[in-house]
Amino acid sequence: MERLDKILANTGRWSRKEVRELVRAGRVSVDGVVARTPEEKHDPGAWFQVGGQTISGERLVYLMLHKPAGLVSATEDPREPTVLSLLPQHLQRVGLFPAGRLDKDTEGLLLLTNDGPLAHRLLSPKRHVDKLYYVQVEGRLDEGDAAAFQQGVTLEDGLVCLPACLEILEDGEAGLVTLREGKYHQVKRMLASRGKPVRYLKRLSMGPLTLDPALAPGAWRPLNEEERKALG
Ligand code: URA
Repeated sequence: MERLDKILANTGRWSRKEVRELVRAGRVSVDGVVARTPEEKHDPGAWFQVGGQTISGERLVYLMLHKPAGLVSATEDPREPTVLSLLPQHLQRVGLFPAGRLDKDTEGLLLLTNDGPLAHRLLSPKRHVDKLYYVQVEGRLDEGDAAAFQQGVTLEDGLVCLPACLEILEDGEAGLVTLREGKYHQVKRMLASRGKPVRYLKRLSMGPLTLDPALAPGAWRPLNEEERKALG
């Protein structure tokens, strides 16, 4: 048995403080019974309803999704459809969330999981998990851009990025960018600072996980054993 706030915070979706607020607002129930305090102890395998969503503290699910443009990488949004809308109903109720965000107009690899600790490890800035993007730009990429990426681009707000790799493709109209961090709109901001706005962006891989070429935009599949293990 574990404390309710710990079980829910372990899913990676809420902080303990948020859990306390949800419980206080009467928005958390366990196996159908409204929870009274964040400290009360429960079986992590119980079914938890949090603000209308049902979550299992135990059943871990890992899905690879080819995110299409037009959907937001979030579990809920007041205005826009989210990536979860691509999943069947039963998978919308197991507490899945995107491990790492892609912009609404970005396509490509997205890991959906309810394994909070794993997502935390993958996204931790200390781990420097490589992310590979295919990008098309306005204008032409050149060796100056590649050298600037290698040095660490300074963004317009003064933020200095870690050294990154830019491989130029298609006569400079496209490229492959490898980042070791994941700041907000990072690829777009790095290329904007070089005067080459992004026209199209697609994530091809994240750490050991590579987008399955058999998945069309909008399609998904569970990770296989090997992929799951490679994530650590
Ligand atoms: N960099 C961006 O600018 N956008 C994304 O969606 C991902 C990385």
